[in-house]
Amino acid sequence: MSTNKNPNELVTCPYNKAHKVLRLRLAKHLDRCARTSNKPLELAICPFSTIHRMPAHELKAHMLICEDRGAMSVEEPQSAELPAQKAPKMPDLEPVVGCEDWDKDEDVPTYNPQAYCEKSLIVRSNPGQPLAKRREFRESERRRLASLQ
Ligand SMILES: [Zn+2]
Ligand SMILES: [Zn+2]
Repeated sequence: MSTNKNPNELVTCPYNKAHKVLRLRLAKHLDRCARTSNKPLELAICPFSTIHRMPAHELKAHMLICEDRGAMSVEEPQSAELPAQKAPKMPDLEPVVGCEDWDKDEDVPTYNPQAYCEKSLIVRSNPGQPLAKRREFRESERRRLASLQ
């Protein structure tokens, strides 16, 4: 990372040497400059930093000395191996403990949130509907709860 660089330093736009841009604005400028320039240069973009742009034939040499490549080149070999090792493992979660009614629900093969909601005494709120609709909904909820009690 180029954290040790002064973000308020003026840097030269690689597309147009006449452009002097604050470093912190450079990424934005490059995007715009590449789009709006009359005949934009075909510049290769450094894989380590989008603000490093240069002719393709210079990129290889740049990548060897790029100041932003450190973190990435170390991470890459690791991240390539990790998914394969991690994949078969289950997340380290506690086994799901059922609610108090677990025994009664044993015949229910899988947890069904919709069914649970229908059975429970939770008044479902349903915002975003016209008032009349909501009143109607609340009315039907009350009947539903009454029938359950
Ligand atoms: Zn520019
Ligand atoms: Zn670079």
